[in-house]
Amino acid sequence: MRIERFEKHPGVRVAFSGRAEGNQASHTGLEPGEVAAARAALAGRHGLGPLRGAFMSQVHSATVATAPAPGAAVPEADALLDAEGGLAPVVLTADCVPVAIAGSVGKRTVLAVAHAGRPGLLGGVLEATLEALREQGASELEAGIGPAVCGACYEVPEAMRAEAEASLPGISSVTSWGTPALDLPGASAALLERAGVLVHSSHACTLEDRAWFSYRGGDKAPRNATLLWVGDDREPASSPRRGEEPIKEEAK
Ligand SMILES: [Zn+2]
Repeated sequence: MRIERFEKHPGVRVAFSGRAEGNQASHTGLEPGEVAAARAALAGRHGLGPLRGAFMSQVHSATVATAPAPGAAVPEADALLDAEGGLAPVVLTADCVPVAIAGSVGKRTVLAVAHAGRPGLLGGVLEATLEALREQGASELEAGIGPAVCGACYEVPEAMRAEAEASLPGISSVTSWGTPALDLPGASAALLERAGVLVHSSHACTLEDRAWFSYRGGDKAPRNATLLWVGDDREPASSPRRGEEPIKEEAK
């Protein structure tokens, strides 16, 4: 687990849970009790208290939904918007890119999370999320990009790379072993920066670092969780675990 603060929004926290916190997904065939225990541990373990987690049923779309209150129906969507900042929207991933965004409307904080896998990213999920935030009047947008499979590891067929590059220039990459690849976290960061968002990238690769669940690395069911919430700005962020770099601003 890594907990980071945002710069422009000092009360906003983003947490990235990984293998140590256990599976956070209930849709992938594990025992519900096991998932519930991991979710409770995730909230309680680092003194997060009774976070009002808001989940979605992710389908690789570009659909943005209103973050559901606890107990409300879970929407089918790939981005959640919390216009009041009272919930903790959650995105679940295991190689896809988790994106957490905060913005200001006057003194109010608006939160959004997005699930940017290849189909969602190419389908415009991040643009749709930014549009939903701006419809709320949100400015001072700031984003955290969590652990995802990197551009040196995400191998794809050449035709898929060419198609993706035509749709989102700059996404094409090459694996460390010299074959066609896509750079989803890099393309996500570049897209957000072009839209004027201050971006912090974790630069953590789920396939290379066993601290995170990775679908391509064999974790077919479990998922990492990225949570975003408005905390108390007197709380310190946690120290990075040994071997992990703190979240940094993306190199320009
Ligand atoms: Zn990698």
